[in-house]
Amino acid sequence: MATQTITVIPGDGIGPDIIDATIKILDKAGCDFAYEYADAGLTALENHGDLIPESTLALIQKNKIALKGPLTTPVGEGFTSINVTLRKHFQLYANVRPVISFKGTKARYEDINIITVRENTEGMYSGLGQILSEDGEVAEAKSLITREGAERILTFAYETAIKEGRKKVTAVHKANILKSTSGLFLKVAREVAARYPQIESTEMIVDNCCMQLVMNPEQFDVIVTTNLFGDILSDLCAGLVGGLGMAPGANIGGDCAIFEAVHGSAPDIAGKNLANPTSVILAAIQMLEYLDMGDKASKIRDAITDVIATGDRTTRDLGGTHGTTDFTQAVLERL
Ligand code: NAD
Repeated sequence: MATQTITVIPGDGIGPDIIDATIKILDKAGCDFAYEYADAGLTALENHGDLIPESTLALIQKNKIALKGPLTTPVGEGFTSINVTLRKHFQLYANVRPVISFKGTKARYEDINIITVRENTEGMYSGLGQILSEDGEVAEAKSLITREGAERILTFAYETAIKEGRKKVTAVHKANILKSTSGLFLKVAREVAARYPQIESTEMIVDNCCMQLVMNPEQFDVIVTTNLFGDILSDLCAGLVGGLGMAPGANIGGDCAIFEAVHGSAPDIAGKNLANPTSVILAAIQMLEYLDMGDKASKIRDAITDVIATGDRTTRDLGGTHGTTDFTQAVLERL
């Protein structure tokens, strides 16, 4: 019998292709998983009349672990982001986005190894207090920071640093201007930092952090920050290692975890066999590490590292000329 059942959400656009590639790789690496498939996003809207059917939520709750392709949220009134809804529904409070340099990419830097730990349920994405005036001229939204939420994500970041053998945690904020919200986050950051004397703690204002990441990214190890800043900074970090095709993310809560690529459904290249599946494969590696299957995670990481370093059948975004299926085949042959 399989050791673990994974809920698989292929998603929209390039999702089904890159998820299919990832499942083939997990199987070839000898992961003893069973898979149960569920719809979400545009596919679900078309098939079930609902962006996130109850049956999908129930399956995620049952299996506790999900591997998810990108989802398209239709633009327009009445559609809340499905990703934000999933994160809130399952209280997936920590969004862990590691970026690591791979030799052979067209990245500007060679030795990047940064984990961004982003608070995933509060801040500007809390969805609270969204008001548009009747004449459509004035809009407002509420940013929510709670001591409980801040303490939970900061503690998670320090515990991640210890588990991963990291030396430094940088709390990123804008407390000089956003005195109440960012101010509370920074206050709690200092309190939590004091509990971890073995880790070097630094703090940085978000605009300076952007500049420092571009100029001198080697100084960063673990970054912990609020929802909106984390969303933006983690894409910036992806740019340091070769782009969105190289950036995975884990959404972790007390009970469930959903693993996905940082990027979206890439409608411009959907159905063209052009997508780089690395980001979802790296998300699957995060999933294996979460499940204490580090040996399988290393095996797959070594295979991808070699494919990219040798330029064997790499995709266009990596400087190659091949498609998703050839790239996947090159990885499979190394497992
Ligand atoms: P996107 O991330 O889909 O694409 C941005 C650019 O990066 C495009 O040029 C695309 O071709 C390229 N790209 C993305 N992934 C790639 C890959 N694996 N290989 C090669 N190139 C890749 O961003 P977008 O176009 O702004 O968003 C499209 C849709 O995705 C929107 O509906 C948005 O809401 C949704 N989205 C979903 C998620 C998610 O499900 N986690 C995240 C971001 C955006």
